[in-house]
Amino acid sequence: MTGKNILIVEDEAAIREMVGFALQRAGFEMDEAADAAEAQNRLAGRLPDLILLDWMLPGTSGIDLARRLKRDEYTKDVPIIMLTARGEEDDKVGGLEAGVDDYVTKPFSPRELVARIKAVMRRSVPESEDEPITINGLTLDPASHRVAVDDAPLEMGPTEFRLLHFFMTHPERVYSRSQLLDRVWGRNTYVEERTVDVHILRLRKALTPSGYDRLVQTVRGAGYRFSERG
Ligand code: CA
Repeated sequence: MTGKNILIVEDEAAIREMVGFALQRAGFEMDEAADAAEAQNRLAGRLPDLILLDWMLPGTSGIDLARRLKRDEYTKDVPIIMLTARGEEDDKVGGLEAGVDDYVTKPFSPRELVARIKAVMRRSVPESEDEPITINGLTLDPASHRVAVDDAPLEMGPTEFRLLHFFMTHPERVYSRSQLLDRVWGRNTYVEERTVDVHILRLRKALTPSGYDRLVQTVRGAGYRFSERG
């Protein structure tokens, strides 16, 4: 994850400094801008791997800038995490429409911010069918159809493998049973939603010896999520 460049657009110098310190420790490079105009200057010179964008900026607001960036062919693929103050998150719908990738509410811990950044970056990487993926020591290699923890192989069925592949390429997000059916089984298969539960159970069982079953989380009333966080 090192060498990735993050642009922070934030008018409060203290927050830029705190975030800069945390990002540096996590191996990222950081560029900063205090307002939308400065951000656009920076973007003209170099495209970052991700933008942290404060919602409330003097002049053009963060959300207006987000909208502009997502409409621009040159910047539209750069993931954006909005930094919001409590209360502003009520307007998340506006942010989602603007194409924002995630939110972090102030005050946030540097650790939480770095975890979100990593999750968004992982999601934004184009899915390559053959690229091995490693999360926290758990490796899935689509080319050889193998799952391993620190080189010790884990056995699982083909559906559990596809499910795990989907989860590992889409971490930190909740998917309903019907969404999982669409994405893992395919839109044209007609199986009951309970089938998902059966395979989740088998996947957890396959992961249990390694302790990684805790990453496959049930989100009550919503579905399932693959997360490194508790
Ligand atoms: Ca601000």
